[in-house]
Amino acid sequence: MPIKKNSKKSKAEKPKEDSLVLQTLRGMKDVLPIDQPYWEQVRRISERLARDYEFSRLDTPIVEFANLFSRSIGEGTDIVEKEMYTFLTRGADKVALRPELTAGNCRSYIQHGMNLLPKPVKFFSTGPVYRYDRPQEGRYREHYQVNFDAFGEQDPILDAQIIQLAHRLVQTFGIKTAQMQINSIGCQICRKDYKELLVNYLDSKKTKLCQDCRRRIETNPLRVLDCKEDKCSQVAALAPQSVDHLCEDCRNHFKTLLEYLDELDLPYIINPHLVRGLDYYTKTVFEILSSAEEGKGLSLGGGGRYDKLIKIMGGEDTPAIGFAIGVERIVAEMKRVQAKPYKAPRPKVFLAQLGNLAKKKSLKLFSELEKNGIFTAESFGRGSLKSQLKVANRLKVEFTLILGQKETLDGTVIVKNMATGAQETVSADKLIDLVKKKIKADNVVVYHNN
Ligand code: AMP
Repeated sequence: MPIKKNSKKSKAEKPKEDSLVLQTLRGMKDVLPIDQPYWEQVRRISERLARDYEFSRLDTPIVEFANLFSRSIGEGTDIVEKEMYTFLTRGADKVALRPELTAGNCRSYIQHGMNLLPKPVKFFSTGPVYRYDRPQEGRYREHYQVNFDAFGEQDPILDAQIIQLAHRLVQTFGIKTAQMQINSIGCQICRKDYKELLVNYLDSKKTKLCQDCRRRIETNPLRVLDCKEDKCSQVAALAPQSVDHLCEDCRNHFKTLLEYLDELDLPYIINPHLVRGLDYYTKTVFEILSSAEEGKGLSLGGGGRYDKLIKIMGGEDTPAIGFAIGVERIVAEMKRVQAKPYKAPRPKVFLAQLGNLAKKKSLKLFSELEKNGIFTAESFGRGSLKSQLKVANRLKVEFTLILGQKETLDGTVIVKNMATGAQETVSADKLIDLVKKKIKADNVVVYHNN
């Protein structure tokens, strides 16, 4: 089979059907080992905060029926209109790769009757999502989200707690300068009147809008407000604002939320043009923006209330709120602000072997050390003791265990203190206990006792 490395697909030179193109698809990427400490930090902090705020892990499939997304996110949204990876299965089901995580979580909540659980029901999810967008800096076709959803509570104190959690997450990643923006886009009732007002205004300025926004007046007028085109921003600046047209319930909800946030001393700004790109939001919406991209509006995460979504999907009327952060953008921001990546524990012990018999025994000894939670490094492929000790020195281990021909026959092991150079010969039976005592307790992690 012909192999093409880094081939650029020009029209004249299209890869043949069966040629192997050694490249990720456009807009997709590998997360290499060198970047994993940042990803690991994001995973660990997210999992810890999910636990502290009592969110239970929920994993749903990457592929769902396509209309789950088109009905929930909205037919007129960019995601559904232009960006979904939709295809027919061999069984002729129309399915899609998930473009976000909330719709699947709602489906799961309804399908498994989780409305019977004590409220609020809180889910923490993480995984890849897919959007066939034009790739650029910070915009991928496959990206990872960390997502939080809470079902069954309409009190604005939950909005405040969710925003507090989003703020805390980003802070804990080491991103101290991100900006929290908040808005209320009202409920189905007051938004209807507001939309009418907005459409009238936008119609009167139609000629000043970009082509996309002219179309959006019909399909998704609120989206015109956060269009990044300069001319659209100018029109948006003078547009009627949703916060001025909220019904009493929505106004009180928003006011109380802001009081809670003030009580928390959580810094935020109200952005009357923040609408979010998905149809299902009601009342509170919020977004966390990178300080580097202020103005350009690169969002690190965002979310809001979606009080009618479960009902629209066929479940019982259930208020809900959630948010997602984009892991790639968080990692890029962590690097930019020089936030700390995860630091993996280092081995404190090195196992060296010399001679064929010792080499055979060393595999088993390594496994015993591992089972007992002693994090041990080795370099079994190397033959000479000198080259193995060189590796041990490079790894800065505290002790090297040396198993030679003589020791193997005697049932002993040499324990070499790497700092002092002192060596002692100990019985193999006592080795594990001795090493455990010698190394600090925090390096001992026992997963299984067998
Ligand atoms: P959304 O589901 O659109 O609210 O996005 C939630 C978060 O995911 C955003 O705040 C971004 O951090 C991230 N995100 C959204 N779209 C992309 C994309 N195409 N590539 C990378 N990250 C994205």
